[in-house]
Amino acid sequence: MKLLIPQEMCPSDVRRALLSVYSSGRIPHALILEGSTGQTLTLAKWLAQAAVCRSEEERPCGHCPGCIKAQAGSHPDILTFGGGEASRSFHKEDIENLRRDAYICPNEAENRVFILENSQNLSAQAQNALLKILEEPPASVQFLLTCDRASSLLSTVRSRSQIYTLEETQQPQDDGLAEKMALAVCSPKESTLLYLTAPLVKDRLKLRAVLEHLLQICRDALILRCGGTEMISGCADTAQTLAQALTRTQLYQITQLVREMHSRTERNANTTLLATDLCAQLRQAAGH
Ligand SMILES: [Zn+2]
Repeated sequence: MKLLIPQEMCPSDVRRALLSVYSSGRIPHALILEGSTGQTLTLAKWLAQAAVCRSEEERPCGHCPGCIKAQAGSHPDILTFGGGEASRSFHKEDIENLRRDAYICPNEAENRVFILENSQNLSAQAQNALLKILEEPPASVQFLLTCDRASSLLSTVRSRSQIYTLEETQQPQDDGLAEKMALAVCSPKESTLLYLTAPLVKDRLKLRAVLEHLLQICRDALILRCGGTEMISGCADTAQTLAQALTRTQLYQITQLVREMHSRTERNANTTLLATDLCAQLRQAAGH
């Protein structure tokens, strides 16, 4: 198929890779589109439209009956699942419904396309159910998974898909939040830490970035407390304050705690619970 993709829709390396794979005719059964929700969903819808377009030339043509229905969101061979914002809100039952649909022949187009939106929110059971379909995919079916980070998916799911990363830099800035949180840990006022973590409740990527930086600061403070000097966080003053305010045991516990919280973000934990736990446990470890 001769695919048409506007240049602004994805980074040039992804665009080149997609054009090449589509023109070779070896279009994978499953594509994972990694990046921000808006960007990945736009590309997924575009590829779905290309899959149902009837043009003999470049697809999607934008004016055949297939394209018009796809654009209107009413094409019977483009099915969308998922889309919930909460982690693990994409259940096994959804995949079982999808499975029933996947074995039905296309209605109008040559292919059926399943868009799995926010697939980072697939529960582990749902991913295992999906894996069974990916292992023996029905003919003429394509799965387009959008997600903020492909590493949220099981490696078995990833290995049966082609992954395209739409953002060069996925790590959001921590906006100095890690430093403020480190200082708040030593503060006698509990509300400061709660106030700082509030915006992270709905932003897992930012929470992860903040925890990564906070881990470096805690590590630096521990090093200072043990007489070392080599800093990696870029926040020597904050690390110094922490090192003076807390004992070595407390710093060690806090470092372990932040490391554990960071790994929980990797495992797709509920961010609201995580941010709340983080506040309570940091305060406790700091002796408040
Ligand atoms: Zn068309």
